[in-house]
Amino acid sequence: MREFDFIIIGGGCAGLSLAYELEINKKLENKTLAIIEQREEYKRDKTWSFWKVFDHNFEDCVIKSWNNFTVNTLENYREHSSEKFPYQSIDSGKFYKKINSKLTKNSNISFFKNLREINSENSLIFTSVTTKERNQSELWQHFQGVEIETTKDIFDDKILNLMDFNCEQKKYVHFFYTLPFSKNRALIETTWLSNLEDQEIMDYDRQLQDYIKNTLGIKNYKINFSEKGSIPLFYPSFLNNNKTIHIGSAGGMTRLSTGYTFLNIQEHSRYIVKNIDKIEKIKMFNLGKKYHYLDKIFLKVLENHPEKMPKIFFDMFEAPSNTIIKFLSNKSNIFEDINIISKIPKLIFIKALFN
Ligand SMILES: Cc1cc2nc3c(=O)[nH]c(=O)nc-3n(C[C@H](O)[C@H](O)[C@H](O)COP(=O)(O)OP(=O)(O)OC[C@H]3O[C@@H](n4cnc5c(N)ncnc54)[C@H](O)[C@@H]3O)c2cc1C
Repeated sequence: MREFDFIIIGGGCAGLSLAYELEINKKLENKTLAIIEQREEYKRDKTWSFWKVFDHNFEDCVIKSWNNFTVNTLENYREHSSEKFPYQSIDSGKFYKKINSKLTKNSNISFFKNLREINSENSLIFTSVTTKERNQSELWQHFQGVEIETTKDIFDDKILNLMDFNCEQKKYVHFFYTLPFSKNRALIETTWLSNLEDQEIMDYDRQLQDYIKNTLGIKNYKINFSEKGSIPLFYPSFLNNNKTIHIGSAGGMTRLSTGYTFLNIQEHSRYIVKNIDKIEKIKMFNLGKKYHYLDKIFLKVLENHPEKMPKIFFDMFEAPSNTIIKFLSNKSNIFEDINIISKIPKLIFIKALFN
């Protein structure tokens, strides 16, 4: 059976980002790589959005960039602007195509469906695949989105709506998210934060139809694309060792309070490639202990007081635009952290801290 220097298990966002980073940094000229991916075909399945707080490799896969966004509750509305950190959306279809067409040109890279097809005994393995069972007490961000095209120009494509809490909350946290790609095309998502136990809140089609018709006032539209998913708001238990390194969501690259993962994956890939020759000796990459700690408290409040969360989220956005963006993108300094913390209700957070 064939042996490889490197094996990447899972050719999704993290696996392909890492392979691409290895390739463009010429780490695969004299080394071999096997990518193990079970899917039959690559097509657009996700829209990855984030604030561009540093340059990344996929500018040519960006559907749209915005400098303005809003958040609102039933009673209040807030608008933010940032020239420095635009919000970007990436088309996963373009991303897969760009990377795969580059990787297939290198004969040192091979693709397999199953790890059993090769000998992995002496390889350095990167894996984005977890086998963890679902635990009922864990929180998830779960959602469905549709990209709609309208007959008339309806959207203001200069400004996206990050969170619209003016919707049914039940006993969870719920908001809609609208990304206007043009004046007549937008991705609209219904997003819930819950433990995935309540089937009643998963009638996403009805929620989207109702929101598009009654809140956005759109009668005539067609659906071009649909995406559905759930992002774990907890860290999977994993053990990196000399021979296996976890990447992507399985490697703790999701920011727990927000679900943002894409840009963290890019940073992790760079870190691995920069240190590839001494990877077993360096410290494990993480998003930062302070965010881990603050997000855990934040999620505890969210679980205990879901009804208070629309206001808490909204109040956090009272901070200056670049401060809140840096905080949510794990790039804030201590003064910016204090600014954000000063916006949240102290008592329930202190209680959560000591519970
Ligand atoms: C619909 C959706 C939208 C998202 N939107 C955003 C966003 O806007 N911004 C953001 O920052 N994050 C977003 N995320 C979160 C995160 O960025 C994505 O989940 C991202 O794809 C995570 O990358 P990954 O490589 O860890 O997992 P994946 O991209 O899911 O890759 C894992 C790969 O492993 C393969 N696989 C699984 N089991 C096996 C096996 N046994 N053998 C071989 N291969 C296997 C799968 O087919 C898949 O290709 C979104 C997630 C979803 C689900």
